[in-house]
Amino acid sequence: MEKAQRRTWAEIDLKALEHNYHTFRAMLPQGCKLLAPVKADAYGHGAVAVSRKLEELGADYLAVACLDEGIELRKAGIALPILILGYTDPVWADELMEYGLSQGIFNEDGARALSQAAVKAGKTLTVHMKADTGMSRLGLLCDEADLKQTVETMERMYQLPGLRWEGIFTHFSDADGSEEYTMLQFTRFLELLDRLKERGVTFEIRHCAASAAVLNYPCTYLDMIRPGISLYGHYPAPECEGLDGPGLKAMMTLKSRVISVKKVPAGTAVSYGRIHTLERDTKLAVLSAGYADGLPRRCSDKLQVWVGGGRATVVGRICMDLCMVDVTDLPDVKPGDAAEIYGPHVPLEETAEMANTIQHELLCAVGKRVPRIYLD
Ligand SMILES: *Cc1c(COP(=O)(O)O)cnc(C)c1O
Repeated sequence: MEKAQRRTWAEIDLKALEHNYHTFRAMLPQGCKLLAPVKADAYGHGAVAVSRKLEELGADYLAVACLDEGIELRKAGIALPILILGYTDPVWADELMEYGLSQGIFNEDGARALSQAAVKAGKTLTVHMKADTGMSRLGLLCDEADLKQTVETMERMYQLPGLRWEGIFTHFSDADGSEEYTMLQFTRFLELLDRLKERGVTFEIRHCAASAAVLNYPCTYLDMIRPGISLYGHYPAPECEGLDGPGLKAMMTLKSRVISVKKVPAGTAVSYGRIHTLERDTKLAVLSAGYADGLPRRCSDKLQVWVGGGRATVVGRICMDLCMVDVTDLPDVKPGDAAEIYGPHVPLEETAEMANTIQHELLCAVGKRVPRIYLD
């Protein structure tokens, strides 16, 4: 479909990805690798196109959340190493090997099951050990009470046949908040690595820094960084917005179309639930975008968009496929005009804060029916 006819679309600026990628590369010490998280369809930007670009740029590793995401990339011809961060049931061990995907391992049972499958197939599976240093999500516990046992368990896991332990990693829970807690987690990780090393258990790639740690704590880079949201040009939390040191560029501009403009008299209620009654005669524009396209419904009656050379505010509830905006003060707005939902005039950070969420969630919410248009 021609751009002129699209109802809602996302322009994805691959040059911005290139800029952000080089920005991080320049921050890295010699030999430190860069893993690009492309889970959740590359945070809504399109995993295949983004991965192709990253491969061309020279990224070292990709990460996905699950097996299907990894297979999608392999089928598209992506040859880079790919790490699955989440769980893969051992019944899929053959697929892991067939598609050459690395798997994060977070307990001994999981390691044993994959080891058996690899031995049976006469192959080797590449794995990364996950340590839980305080996120309390996946991984073997590394707090003071559990560390000794975890070291012993990891040593047993390390000796299992059929597995190649390429990496070990942990994840910070508050690297955009508490320095003290982040350093506690990091110290636990280093302590674990030391204890393992004493037993001859070593890993080529030790990694822990996602975006917030990459921006705040260069001491945590170790052998590889994992910047996700920041590679896409956004800051890990609304509070980090002021932290504009590296000058990242947002990749996505979400746009929609004005499909109707009309004058509606004062006193008229707008949209579902009639939460807004017009206080003045109002020029209302209908945009062909709603929450199914990724507009946060909780920003009903306040979301800002850019249209006709100015800012306009959504009036009333955001619907599934449509929303109404007040363009009384924007005389040029007419049907067929493009409106920017997020982009250079309406930063995603601002809407995320309004929606009381993080940039990640809004990007992931951009609907499947919204075509991604790549600019390079
Ligand atoms: C998603 C994810 C990342 C990337 O996080 P950002 O905050 O987007 O940089 C890094 N590591 C792990 C384990 C993740 O799940």
